[in-house]
Amino acid sequence: MSATLTPVTACWVCGGTHLTRVHDARLELTEYRTQDPELAEYSGQSLPIVRCTACGFAQPASLPALPRYFDRMYDQRWSADWVEREHHAAYKDRIFDDVLAALESRLPASRRRLLDVGAHAGRFIARARGRGWDADGLELNPRTAAYAASASGGTVHHGNLYTWSGSGAGYDAVTLTDVLEHIPDPRSALRRVRDLLNPGGWIAVKIPNAPVQRVKERARSWLRPGYAPALADNLVHVNHFGPASIRLALEREGFGDVRVLVAAPEMPDGESVASRIDRFGRTLAFRVAAALPGGTYTPVAFNLQAYARRS
Ligand SMILES: [Zn+2]
Repeated sequence: MSATLTPVTACWVCGGTHLTRVHDARLELTEYRTQDPELAEYSGQSLPIVRCTACGFAQPASLPALPRYFDRMYDQRWSADWVEREHHAAYKDRIFDDVLAALESRLPASRRRLLDVGAHAGRFIARARGRGWDADGLELNPRTAAYAASASGGTVHHGNLYTWSGSGAGYDAVTLTDVLEHIPDPRSALRRVRDLLNPGGWIAVKIPNAPVQRVKERARSWLRPGYAPALADNLVHVNHFGPASIRLALEREGFGDVRVLVAAPEMPDGESVASRIDRFGRTLAFRVAAALPGGTYTPVAFNLQAYARRS
């Protein structure tokens, strides 16, 4: 098989088949030339990202037929230094602390068993454990999984949502922060999460707000001639949710009490004037969007945070 694509003909969220092109995803994987030549063969192709006219969700019009394409693309051989820096980096702390506070307000103090899907370098698990959660993780990348386990004190299973046996499941909360946008067929991922939760347990999902990200990337390409919008390159983002489609996906998988909010921004560090202005702008956009009625639909709601309960 050489770099073939398999069409995706129906919306992963609602099953709709009226799909219109909004963007093209380019594949550029030459960095895998030595590590994984079959993967690198996809370089140079591009494929449409299409939007479902019924529910607004957008997804690729086709997917690489190469077995385990996504697992292979995420098998980056990161350096030990880089993984350690990621564990100590504070840029997502505000998001992490919001998620933990929201879950703590929804669950009694006796229910603190949590699984972080896509645990990365384990910083969220460490923060959760510091607040009294019995927090474990699941992580696809073997290097970050091993580091996350040693640095957080939790158990971090190596695998993905489908390959992991889920032995000892029965969680009170499952978190997916910047993860669901990467998993093809997101409703099957949500179904799997539901099965990992105890009745009455909560899912917390943080995702980019795709319609707003599309506007942002378009504005960037107008402001900077030569800049090509890069929303879905290499299919790093396969699911392009807005506030209505994430709600629909959760409800269709049997979750109740769904709330979709504006998510807190990442806060890149740095002491330069540009970094300070960047942080100020992110905070301002978040405060404005969070304060407005229907704020998730405003063009400054760059990210979404959804909570829902397993009945
Ligand atoms: Zn749809």
